[in-house]
Amino acid sequence: MTFRKDADLSGGSVSGGRGGGRRGMAVGGGVGGIVVVLVALFLGVDPGQLGLDTGGGQGDPQSQSRIDQRLEECTGEMANTDTICRIKATTISLEDVWGQQLPQQTGMAWEQPHTTIFEGSVSTACGAASSDVGPFYCPADQDVYMDPSFFDQVLAGQLGGSDDLVATSYVVAHEFGHHLQNMFGDLRRSQQDPQGPSSGAVRVELQADCYAGIWFHYATTTPARGSQEPLVESLTEQHIDAIIQTAEAIGDDHIQKASGTRVDPSSWTHGSSQMRRHWLVTGYEQGTVEACDTFRAQL
Ligand SMILES: [Zn+2]
Repeated sequence: MTFRKDADLSGGSVSGGRGGGRRGMAVGGGVGGIVVVLVALFLGVDPGQLGLDTGGGQGDPQSQSRIDQRLEECTGEMANTDTICRIKATTISLEDVWGQQLPQQTGMAWEQPHTTIFEGSVSTACGAASSDVGPFYCPADQDVYMDPSFFDQVLAGQLGGSDDLVATSYVVAHEFGHHLQNMFGDLRRSQQDPQGPSSGAVRVELQADCYAGIWFHYATTTPARGSQEPLVESLTEQHIDAIIQTAEAIGDDHIQKASGTRVDPSSWTHGSSQMRRHWLVTGYEQGTVEACDTFRAQL
């Protein structure tokens, strides 16, 4: 997936977050520890509600201003090589697509969530969180939180997801899926029934994958704001394979195998590799919110 080189990436609801002083334990804490946390939270919805408080929020103005400066400089061309710019470009394309599709398909107006890019740890309305929770969405401040180091070190490095930047776009689109669920009032179903292969939590996560698929369906054909041309220039078969590889890498069964623990469906919170692949592909092929009704589906 590539963005148009001359695309305008100015503006956008993305900024650097307050980094914290716990960088040592963040992603350097050892595979075992990380994977255990990821089983609970990876691409999850809300660290605060799981009682995690990792002592962030000390503030690291240098990290924040470095990220803000990079965000200012981002161009479409940089979005094809740089993770921070890729995150920003993806949020703008998501706004283009959902701004058009949501009213067309449901009659609701899209409200763009804010996206915060941080290093180490971050203060949120859902509590403090460190990088090892992975990317997440906080419904209390309607903000998507991303640490760029997660993609190389954990997703591609430890879990065997694709190292193509399209994997980063998929994760951003998944978190925006949680924002959509928050708008629909469906996000709470995750907390009401938090574990098991057909639990509310798994249905919420699979639906977010399906919503991510909808974005991929329309990304290359939806015109960018103030332009005739889409922000996303191409999405190839290779890119689709990379997205599927990533969806499979973050299945609960794969994460349990990778962490050396027994595969135990009763502890699943996000769904198996096969389930995640299935719902991502469903959203991509169908392109409709209706096709993503994981709550009525037989899992
Ligand atoms: Zn999620």
